Amino acid sequence: MAVCKDERKVVMSSSPSKTVQTVNQRALIGKLKRFGGGMRRLFELALLPPDSSQSLFGAFTSEPLDRREIQTYCEWKVQTCFRNLNRGQRKRTKRRIIYILPIGPFPEALLEPFPEMDMTLFELIANFVGIFFQGMKAKLVDKVNFIDINCRQRIHAVTGKLQLLVSDVLYYLKTCLPSDGFCVVGLTWVDLYPSEEWNFVLGESSCLDGCAVMSFGHFEPQSYSINKLNEVQLYRKDLTLLSDGTDFDDQSGSVYIESDHNISANLRDFAGIKCVDKQKIWRLLRVASHEICHLFGMSHCAYFACAMNESKSILQAENQPLFLCPVCLRKLQKALGFDVVERYKDLCSFLNSFISLNDCGKETLDGKFMSAIYWLNTMLMFIEDKR
Ligand SMILES: [Zn+2]
Ligand SMILES: [Zn+2]
Repeated sequence: MAVCKDERKVVMSSSPSKTVQTVNQRALIGKLKRFGGGMRRLFELALLPPDSSQSLFGAFTSEPLDRREIQTYCEWKVQTCFRNLNRGQRKRTKRRIIYILPIGPFPEALLEPFPEMDMTLFELIANFVGIFFQGMKAKLVDKVNFIDINCRQRIHAVTGKLQLLVSDVLYYLKTCLPSDGFCVVGLTWVDLYPSEEWNFVLGESSCLDGCAVMSFGHFEPQSYSINKLNEVQLYRKDLTLLSDGTDFDDQSGSVYIESDHNISANLRDFAGIKCVDKQKIWRLLRVASHEICHLFGMSHCAYFACAMNESKSILQAENQPLFLCPVCLRKLQKALGFDVVERYKDLCSFLNSFISLNDCGKETLDGKFMSAIYWLNTMLMFIEDKR
């Protein structure tokens, strides 16, 4: 990404003078005075190019962001202070509960606990959220059905999938945020779309209203063929690219449906779903942590390969890291005040608990979990200077 690379060049290249380095460090990650040796070294990794031998963070490889979208720690802090000038916002940001609201219907199998873990998928996501956003409590609330939410729906012309208009779902979530809640996060199996021109969206959040929604039905290979995983969130005019040769033009566009429409035919994909595999759990953890970070005012990241990189396809979302780069971690740590070492340790044992999980009778795909655990251990050793 041009702008952040330029920033790094200034820091790292021909200007080794302390003044330049200090100024850039302050802009990027703020003052680090209150941090001890290991933590300070971790945050200072933000100043090293990702390909340096010291770096524990990969290079940023997604599409470049507009310069205005790039947010240093200091910019994040100013934006947060500005938002908090509003009394309502200030009160909300002091609350410490993340509510998680399942928006049904869901395949029956999702409502059953995993036998090895004695918890349902929703409880598992809530556990993860409580650890990733340490300092917050994640509370699962009783599910509602999307038919009870006043939201516009359509049938996607190419995929035939039922989709909900994401802004309507967000509006509903905003109105049901409990008075002690920092935010409410809706989880749905039904696909989402952001506006008429767009193909789909995996999730969306509103920082000002303290709500986010994500769909994991779109992740479901049984209802959406594997070769669609690379599909990107394109405008309608580009949809022909996705239709595998089927004609798609404005006349054959999406069908808008009334809320009393018989939706069962469009939800028939659910029937064959017997369990949730690890790959899907990984995607859920990725999207949930990304969307909730937005609720802390964090923008997309273009500094490193990072949990806050923008993703436009399911594959991109899946392959981006589960963890935050030093710049983004600095923001979240400031917002929540957690102990980074404790949080890494807790994330590590959370991910370890997956290793014993039966993977739907399939060959186990532990790769992402294993490398995440390895990375966390390396980070812990780095902070404790044993590396
Ligand atoms: Zn995002
Ligand atoms: Zn980042």
